[in-house]
Amino acid sequence: MKKLFLLLTITITLLCGGCYESLFPPEKTAERIEPVSDIADEINYTEKGAKILVLNYHKVDHQEISLSVTPEDFDRQLRYIRDSGYHAISMDDMYNAIAGTGELPPNPVLITFDDGYKDNYTNAYPILKRHGFKATIFVISDFVGRENYMNWDELRAMAKDGFNIESHTATHESLTDISDERLEHELAHSKKKIEEEIGREVNFLAYPTGAYNLHIAQKVKDAGYKAAFTVKYGNTDVNSNIFALERVPVFHTENTMKSFVERLHYTPLLVSQGWQLR
Ligand SMILES: [Zn+2]
Repeated sequence: MKKLFLLLTITITLLCGGCYESLFPPEKTAERIEPVSDIADEINYTEKGAKILVLNYHKVDHQEISLSVTPEDFDRQLRYIRDSGYHAISMDDMYNAIAGTGELPPNPVLITFDDGYKDNYTNAYPILKRHGFKATIFVISDFVGRENYMNWDELRAMAKDGFNIESHTATHESLTDISDERLEHELAHSKKKIEEEIGREVNFLAYPTGAYNLHIAQKVKDAGYKAAFTVKYGNTDVNSNIFALERVPVFHTENTMKSFVERLHYTPLLVSQGWQLR
């Protein structure tokens, strides 16, 4: 009944632009959005246990593409997360909770970046530090040091500050399109290279373009990874497949902040109803 009521409320809110605008007036959007953590509390805790919001970013800069969130929006999003009672967690916190060996704070959020773009270091890193948040960077090991990508010194500096540097394979080839030999190389080579350069164990992988299947998931496990992330839309919880973890992508849209707030609060409910926000 409570779910039905929530669904109804959300449906009305989403369908009725005017209602939404009265909740989050556009002129206020640029400055401040009121936290609605009581709604988040309702949705994020179910009989299945805590839902973990895994945010997936790519770039933080001013490019007019969907994968680029502006530094201003990124700053606003982190402030919103903090003010709404969400708690940034580490990769190990998430893994231990799913494995049943660790506790999570209320409204846990894991912040992830794919590809290892330079702007993660120049733009996102200072903003994250200012808010006291850490993040996980999934790097393409053969691309590190290339133009527009971070170099190993930058990644080491982030690792020293508690960021996780994990694998997004060696060359970003879609893993469903390559031979087993090539697949094994992508998984093993990137893991080894990042471990050598960063000096820490690499236990997590993000599938390039999110493409995976059961065979690939088994290979990932065989290569020594503990978990892997897809771009499957949704929140992670104890029922998630540890080698196919869900994430919530954050895009630049016509109203990036409004889209972000919707995703934060409505993802579990919308996924349970088979819907997806664009
Ligand atoms: Zn990627």
